[in-house]
Amino acid sequence: MPKQDPMDRTKGFFKKNLETIPHKKRVDYLNRKLRGIIQYAYKHSVAVKNKLDSVGLKPRDIQTIKDLEKIPITKKADLVELQKENPPFGGFEGVPLNELRRIYVSPGPIHEPGDPEYEEVGWAQALYAGGFRPGDIVINTFSYHMVPFAMEMVDNSLYRIGCVTVPTGVGNTEQQVHVLKNLKVSGFCGTPSFLLNMAEKAEEMGLDLKKDLSLQVAFVAAEMLPESLRLKLEEKFGLILRQSYGTADIGCLGYECMLKNGMHVPDDKIVEIVDPETGKPLPPGKTGEIVATTFNKVYPLIRFGTGDLSLLTETPCPCGRTSPRLVKILGRVDQVTKVRGLFVHPGQANEVALKHSEIEKYQIVVTRKEHKDEMTLRVELKEETLHSEQLKQEIERSIRDVMKVRGEVQFVPKGTIPDGVKKIDDQRTWE
Ligand SMILES: [Zn+2]
Repeated sequence: MPKQDPMDRTKGFFKKNLETIPHKKRVDYLNRKLRGIIQYAYKHSVAVKNKLDSVGLKPRDIQTIKDLEKIPITKKADLVELQKENPPFGGFEGVPLNELRRIYVSPGPIHEPGDPEYEEVGWAQALYAGGFRPGDIVINTFSYHMVPFAMEMVDNSLYRIGCVTVPTGVGNTEQQVHVLKNLKVSGFCGTPSFLLNMAEKAEEMGLDLKKDLSLQVAFVAAEMLPESLRLKLEEKFGLILRQSYGTADIGCLGYECMLKNGMHVPDDKIVEIVDPETGKPLPPGKTGEIVATTFNKVYPLIRFGTGDLSLLTETPCPCGRTSPRLVKILGRVDQVTKVRGLFVHPGQANEVALKHSEIEKYQIVVTRKEHKDEMTLRVELKEETLHSEQLKQEIERSIRDVMKVRGEVQFVPKGTIPDGVKKIDDQRTWE
């Protein structure tokens, strides 16, 4: 029997007036919000005041998004240090400690303040764009312990949309499958790998994923989502699966709509892509570090460096949302290498490998010869007999297309590249 679903999960907006606002008006709106949070944070957050003072800035010097580049970037490692010196939040909190509802503890260790009233809209926009609707019964399988994501961010956002949450947390796969069945759960929040675990467990228990279960939407985060895994899960359960991106410190920074063409930046953040070396903003289409500024008065992080790499696009999305989009997350800044002046990162190597199904394993090796960078892609093929000059040339062309830098392909015998090896091996020395 086909699933009965009277509601249209593929259309509509959570905050239509903001999500479809024309570009120029969005810029005006964000500039106004930026001036507001800078004024507020300078007055109420010691750390933000120190940060501006350290470069001789006053709140009036920050009028528009373009002025943001004058403010130094705070990296995660800086946050850990600042919190050690001035616990629990390094002075970033924008309200007195006794007005908070909770204190979260994330790996680092890093503490995050829990809002008395959760006001962020990003995750709710993400869930709605991913097809979650009022009345959905949702299992939230992210961890409720210590960290803020499940309880503070996802739980509150589901409630705001009008969904009913079952706070199942991590693990207990078999029990969670029973919950799915008994409560006719229609929505899943969690990692893609846990959803796959649940699919396998349910099949093992003899259930038909489409007939016996009622899952229709899945919201995933916190892991890379290969397109092949998305398709597999969507097909197995007969559901819509959309991903989003953010951090525990600053919340949602991007979410997919039904069209899956990148991740829309929510309207309560400013997201910049910057050159990881200089901190200068880069134009759309250029790869760099994601740096975010939030309008959250409880925890006003201004120019927070996520350490993640991406690129922005401002081409209009046919879904009607007018925000810029993060095209995709390409990896971590600390895995980036510069070859002949251009950034090369593992995500690009992966993209090259995906274009050639003959490739089993690969590794980029960067060396220096006569003061020139040389890049080699070492490749193990699925079948060594495929080794040919033509394939070599085709892969080299893909390297040029994807990485914008020349590289040589070297076929190596199976077993040469160890498992779990660094995707980019930078062997250059600079003495
Ligand atoms: Zn869209």
